[in-house]
Amino acid sequence: MQKALDGLDRYCKNWGLSVNIEKTKIGFFSRGKIRNIPNFVLNGVPVQVVWDYVYLGVLFNYNNKFHNAMKRQCLIGNRAMFSLIRKCRKLNLPIDVQLDLFEKCVHPILLYGCEVWGYDSLDILSRFQLRFLKMLLDVYKTTPTCMVYGELGRYPIRIEVQCQLLVYWYKLMKEMNDGANKMSCLMLKLHLKLYHVQNVKLPWLSHVNTMLNKLGLSYLWTTQSLAVSGFKNVVKQRLRDQFLQEWNTDVNANSLCFNYRIYKKDFCLERYLLCLPRKLQVKLAKFRTSNHKLPIHQHRFFNVPRNERLCDMCDKNELGDEFHYLFSCTDESIVSERRKLISPYYRSHPNCLKYEQLMNCKSKIKLMKLARFVAHVMILVC
Ligand SMILES: [Zn+2]
Repeated sequence: MQKALDGLDRYCKNWGLSVNIEKTKIGFFSRGKIRNIPNFVLNGVPVQVVWDYVYLGVLFNYNNKFHNAMKRQCLIGNRAMFSLIRKCRKLNLPIDVQLDLFEKCVHPILLYGCEVWGYDSLDILSRFQLRFLKMLLDVYKTTPTCMVYGELGRYPIRIEVQCQLLVYWYKLMKEMNDGANKMSCLMLKLHLKLYHVQNVKLPWLSHVNTMLNKLGLSYLWTTQSLAVSGFKNVVKQRLRDQFLQEWNTDVNANSLCFNYRIYKKDFCLERYLLCLPRKLQVKLAKFRTSNHKLPIHQHRFFNVPRNERLCDMCDKNELGDEFHYLFSCTDESIVSERRKLISPYYRSHPNCLKYEQLMNCKSKIKLMKLARFVAHVMILVC
């Protein structure tokens, strides 16, 4: 390393250049921190040894992990997110516009350089995105993730990362095959040689290989030369389709989604979030996503078996769940509000089909009345 520094010094002197010693650092890449580091000197001035270094906006850590790089992006993204939230609240912007602005203004900050570090664990980014989505819905931190994505019709940020990484690989591969002399293409060529011929473990390439296999595009890896029209769209669509399958499984498997799975059929931004005033949106969102204190949810914390979480406001001896309070609880106050706010069609002979129809109705007036009714129920029960 010292030889390299001496060489740099000589080179600069020959060409009449000067090196900024404050910006010059020495970095080591190893599994653990190296002890007994020798002193490095450039032009008689000691050079600092650092364990991480920001190069072209991406933080490189000594251990070859990008966890700290993602943390750094999240820290910068945090400022942008809260500034965005403040402005959106001030201007009272609708929820779809807020989501769009988040994707246009904060996503690029979070995803900066993700083509390089996107193979690492992306939990920290997912948590960041979910925090914003939960703030929009004003629901508990413990709300099941599938409900949050489902209500807002949003895909996880990891899909964007994986898509960008694969598109970057595809672009490099095409340029390499066209004989481009770029440094990045030469590096890919070298990586492929090391990976295939010498069986060197390269996490970035392994990730590309695994992703292509998962997406049913293994032939691209085998040939490393075929072109696919609209590669980005193909990858994005397949990633989204796979996510939707996982989402459906989650909704059907999660015990908290027992009611949710009755009325949640389509993965889309729910209409009530677009047409209701903010206060009513929040009430209905809380009711739909089990952010309430109805016995079916609240008694979980006291380890009461599910079939014993009964309504204590009437003598019907029925489960105190959303369906009971919407349609059959005989508490006087609830009955009178129900008469005022829920149409007779739903009140007479209620069943799962009518429950689904009511929760998915498109009429703004009906949704507003439903939100008022659930707000009344939640105030009474808690
Ligand atoms: Zn009841």
